Amino acid sequence: PKPQAKKEDGKKVTLLGVGTKKDDNYSEWYTEVITKAEMIEYYDVSGCYVLRPWSYAVWESIQAWFDSGIKKLGVKNCYFPMFVSNSALEREKTHIADFAPEVAWVTRAGSSDLPEPIAIRPTSETVMYPSYKKWVQSHRDLPIKLNQWCNVVRWEFKHPTPFLRTREFLWQEGHTAFANPADAEEEVFQILDLYAGIYNKLLAIPVVKGRKSEKEKFAGGDFTTTVEAYVACNGRGIQGATSHHLGQNFSKMFDISYEDPACKEGQRAFAWQNSWGLSTRTIGAMVMIHGDDKGLVLPPRVAAVQVIVVPVGFKTDTKEKLFDAVDKVTKDLVAGGVKAEHDLRENYQAGWKFNHWELKGVPIRFEIGPNDLAKNQVTAVVRHSGDKKQLSLDGLSQSVLTLLDEIHDEMYNKALAQRDAHLKLTTDMEEFKKLLDDKCIILAPFCGHPNCEDEIKKASTREDGEGAQMGAKTLCIPLEQPKEALPSKCIFPVCTEKAKAFALFGRSY
Ligand code: AMP
Repeated sequence: PKPQAKKEDGKKVTLLGVGTKKDDNYSEWYTEVITKAEMIEYYDVSGCYVLRPWSYAVWESIQAWFDSGIKKLGVKNCYFPMFVSNSALEREKTHIADFAPEVAWVTRAGSSDLPEPIAIRPTSETVMYPSYKKWVQSHRDLPIKLNQWCNVVRWEFKHPTPFLRTREFLWQEGHTAFANPADAEEEVFQILDLYAGIYNKLLAIPVVKGRKSEKEKFAGGDFTTTVEAYVACNGRGIQGATSHHLGQNFSKMFDISYEDPACKEGQRAFAWQNSWGLSTRTIGAMVMIHGDDKGLVLPPRVAAVQVIVVPVGFKTDTKEKLFDAVDKVTKDLVAGGVKAEHDLRENYQAGWKFNHWELKGVPIRFEIGPNDLAKNQVTAVVRHSGDKKQLSLDGLSQSVLTLLDEIHDEMYNKALAQRDAHLKLTTDMEEFKKLLDDKCIILAPFCGHPNCEDEIKKASTREDGEGAQMGAKTLCIPLEQPKEALPSKCIFPVCTEKAKAFALFGRSY
């Protein structure tokens, strides 16, 4: 970007930053941040976006961490085609009923119509399981534990938002099959823990682990587990990733089965299956939760650049020595395991560079001037807090690695405090609605019935013009339940059913 400058009180100030405040209009703020920080380029097909290196690097960090995690569980990577025939897609009825409205179809090649339209995968159960049928002949062929890193297409009609809700997105999808239901269920929660780890340990975002309600669970599965995050600027919950236990529903439809002496004569045993997915939505959650009025704030462990080194306060005669020192500091940091770069561009002022790298969210900025060199130190400025500190050049990489960990913890704790201040428990529907309008997510006793969930959503929808707000849905039924005693009745006043658990409700993405 070119520096923009205007005169104000006779001083030169740069106008590089974000023009919209996050609290004034989070959606405009979001668009500005992701474009000006060079994460996203808009594209001329609605709902599709260009992921630029600055955001793709975040995805690569997530991939590396998760990929090594699943490999420890014995999962292997593979790749299946993106196209799926109508007959495979329709095999599991509840599944396709849910996905059908969003499936994109290829109907033509060049100028001729295809004899049969071919679908583009919205998810790959129906793509992969015909192969699983062929590969499973006996119990010795199980478990199958495969994952693919790929794109999927869901032609959603809800308003698209880069990263958070897009028509094509990148994700990983794991598809496993076991002889034994207990092994399958165990894996569902191992994967859920890895997903929670991506949020907690990489993105510095707290999540609630839980099960989806009957209404919200994955179509065709037995049960869905999820990690749910909270976005403070609009008070919405966001589904972070899901790990599904499919039971035997798909294995029966796709005949993933084998002979088992334990089965009755002539009957076959069917595999127990899981599928689990995490998408580039993670990046959107990270932007929304940590970003501020100056722009993006990158959590250190996913930042493409963790330290940007900027030379300051030099004159023509001190420049060369300083630039050499900056180069050496940067190289030493890289050798010490820190993702560091320097900004030696001479056509930009130091102040402009500060704004630029703040906008891009780099966790630490080093300012090094001749005075710092004389004192054998650098000045470090922390992006998320604005804190400044002097660090000695001796043992610098180690102190930076420590500082990066501290920054991670501080960012996590800040997000946790914000979330916890908006996580409320109530048993009263009127209070529920008030809390929702106060941007809270709410724990409330719930009977679990889809009809009741619909009623709660209706009761909490506001259609009054400008303040129109969608109703609340269940984000999950937290695995860890509140310590308060569960009231006997569901929160919905008209409901006569008993409460089964506290559910976490909220407006959501
Ligand atoms: P699902 O297969 O529906 O359980 O989705 C798996 C994960 O993909 C979800 O947990 C979401 O985080 C993510 N996801 C679903 N739809 C979208 C979308 N349109 N854009 C980006 N991410 C999505």
